Amino acid sequence: MAKVRCKLVSWNEVVRWCMDLADRILESGWRPDVIVAIARGAYVPARLLCDLLQVTDLASVQVAHWGRAAEITTKAHIKCPVKVDLSGRKVLIVDDIADTGESIIIAKKHIEQDCNPAEVKVATMQWISPVCKIKPDYYVEEVKEWIWYQYPWTRLEDTIDFIEKILKEEGKEKKEWTRREIISKFKEWYGIDVGKQYYDRAIAYLIKQGTLEEQVKGCKRTLIYKG
Ligand code: ADP
Repeated sequence: MAKVRCKLVSWNEVVRWCMDLADRILESGWRPDVIVAIARGAYVPARLLCDLLQVTDLASVQVAHWGRAAEITTKAHIKCPVKVDLSGRKVLIVDDIADTGESIIIAKKHIEQDCNPAEVKVATMQWISPVCKIKPDYYVEEVKEWIWYQYPWTRLEDTIDFIEKILKEEGKEKKEWTRREIISKFKEWYGIDVGKQYYDRAIAYLIKQGTLEEQVKGCKRTLIYKG
């Protein structure tokens, strides 16, 4: 059993979900004049929705909330506000996933109070219904049991964070690791396989950052956890 429930998301799934989302919006008869992406998670879905709905105006608002992968570290707050006048315009706020709902609530409030829009609606690919404080107007998947969606745009970031968590927890007893051991622990803890290219890049990053140190003993290469 994995320690953290994760779903490895493919690019094809993202395209399929955005197509479904666009269809739901089109079928409702409502059409946005402007799309506002909540940075950074919504950038790819928002851009795809611009194409699929033929919307040319795309703005963004950055909300900071989640720190390391799968861990909330700060209270949701606006990091980069929307600086454009949305007077009289129909706005579609897009996010990848509605989890706690706090980023969406704060982004919506900011747009309604500071940008004077005619109407604001929310679209996300996933909606974690048992925990989310808001129900998006449009969504594709209702998620009944919390899970971390490992989207392709945070693959390296999540891999680095996930490996760091393993090292931190297991590093009290085990300082010396082989690459193979790290990768097998990663698969055991998270139940997903992100592929060699991502493990290599994540380990290279952790070496550069000083979290791991590569040691060569004869023909054996090991990684020492320095945390
Ligand atoms: P909201 O639920 O309003 O989107 P959160 O603050 O809970 O706000 O999440 C902010 C962002 O963190 C999400 O837009 C997404 O990019 C990322 N995130 C949150 N929960 C998950 C999850 N379960 N799986 C993958 N990414 C997530």
